[in-house]
Amino acid sequence: MGALAVLDEPLHVVEVPERFRFSDENPLTLEPYARNKVGDLPPYIEEVITDELGLSPQEWDALVEQGETYSVVGPHKEYSLSRFVASVRRRNGRDAPNPKVCGDCWGTLACDDYDGSMTGRKGGVYFCGFCTGTF
Ligand SMILES: [Zn+2]
Repeated sequence: MGALAVLDEPLHVVEVPERFRFSDENPLTLEPYARNKVGDLPPYIEEVITDELGLSPQEWDALVEQGETYSVVGPHKEYSLSRFVASVRRRNGRDAPNPKVCGDCWGTLACDDYDGSMTGRKGGVYFCGFCTGTF
């Protein structure tokens, strides 16, 4: 596993995984994350690029333009989103602290599913279709 899984066909629910590869499909563009510049990536993927890889958005975008991202991130190397996913789970159905952001995902594009109504399991985390128009 580790790849994004489409669970409920009619709703096109995409679960946010605990681990991902940069060769996985970006739900925003349906291309691999490695082919997309900052701005076309979910914020939690951009955080991995800046915080974990230590690249600036400009450095990442230059790698995308040169087709060189896999020389840095590797197509098969897995990166963890477990801390982020855990932070989304801790929302536990509460409202966003800032009323200006999306009430479902709090502006992160990841929604908690504390009752399992979307992902089919309690504590699941799914990609915000409301923000992205995917459902
Ligand atoms: Zn949202």
